[in-house]
Amino acid sequence: MILPGDGIGTEVTREAVKVLHRVAGKFGHQVSLSEGLLGGIAIHKTGGPLPQETVDLALKADATLMGAVGLPEFDNVAPEKRPERGLLGIRKALGVYANLRPVRSYKALLDASPLKKELIDGTDMIIVRELNGGIYYGTPRGIFEDGPEPRAVNTMVYTRSEIQRVARMAFHLAQNRCKKVTSVDKSNVLENSQLWRRVVTEVAKEFPDVTLDHLLVDTTAMQLILNPRRFDVLLTENMFGDILSDEGAVLAGSIGMLPSASIGDRKPSGAWVGLYEPVHGSAPDIAGQNKANPFGAIGSVAAMLEYSFGLREEAAAVNRAAEAVLNSGRVTADLKPSGKPATTTEVGDAVVQAI
Ligand code: NAD
Repeated sequence: MILPGDGIGTEVTREAVKVLHRVAGKFGHQVSLSEGLLGGIAIHKTGGPLPQETVDLALKADATLMGAVGLPEFDNVAPEKRPERGLLGIRKALGVYANLRPVRSYKALLDASPLKKELIDGTDMIIVRELNGGIYYGTPRGIFEDGPEPRAVNTMVYTRSEIQRVARMAFHLAQNRCKKVTSVDKSNVLENSQLWRRVVTEVAKEFPDVTLDHLLVDTTAMQLILNPRRFDVLLTENMFGDILSDEGAVLAGSIGMLPSASIGDRKPSGAWVGLYEPVHGSAPDIAGQNKANPFGAIGSVAAMLEYSFGLREEAAAVNRAAEAVLNSGRVTADLKPSGKPATTTEVGDAVVQAI
């Protein structure tokens, strides 16, 4: 299922779909695609950001590839009427509970990072963030004005089963990588983190081939910058993951490079429910100009092949092709401050050719 969305979402998704067709053709797979409305375009055509038809199609599909949503004309409307509400709605409808952000450094972009290249060269990790629980959803919550002064409350709640399912996902991923999970918490202060650590340690026993270590979130914030190569799979709860994954984003060089995946349970077809999208938004400042960097969307196709369908060789072929194009210098303006940049379409075509 394809949800191009708004702005550059439609432009980068078009290239990602070309790449998907190419890799499927090369490896002899058949792809059956449906397309739906989400975000601003859905508001224009149906009156709401997430039409029921989109939900139905996404529930039927094995995986969903999304562009980005958001249009400036909706900037000042109520939150429930904004395009971004469609994004939260589709995540909820699909029941995805783990957000995966692969973070890699690319040789061609080492100089684009504000960090020293000898520190980030060779970085290759996945941040696995719990998406449905923790302090963003726990109750009681609110600002209470009934006492002598206003009082604000948020509650960090996790159950054993919520921790178990996301931890299992992290360990499964590690089995196909360097077999190392680093679980991040604040167990020196929070009881919530003490349960997190206990349950993750229990789950680790199911995966004897994977090494587990624990790190406090404050130490992790430092280690991500000082020694990012020490991480393989970084597992953490919702709010810590929200913050650390943006820190991780700096390691990749440009926001246009970053793919993401949100994964739920396994479907009867054997595919893992997954929603795949580049991390960036709809970028109204460059929309419609064929300037957007499509690597994040193309990387999302690779993530979909690997995580939803277990097609690791196909995913690697997409990533190798993208890296070859990156190294050849055929890149969009965000990665090329001087010289003639390539268009979104040219980058997509080059990746298709390189597969
Ligand atoms: P943005 O990510 O759209 O853009 C931030 C900056 O990065 C802009 O200067 C943009 O030109 C640049 N940029 C982003 N992606 C790029 C790419 N692929 N290639 C080249 N340059 C790129 O964030 P924003 O400006 O804060 O938000 C714009 C709209 O997108 C808002 O409506 C916001 O709510 C929405 N948004 C949606 C998502 C999503 O759909 N997942 C995520 C973030 C923001």
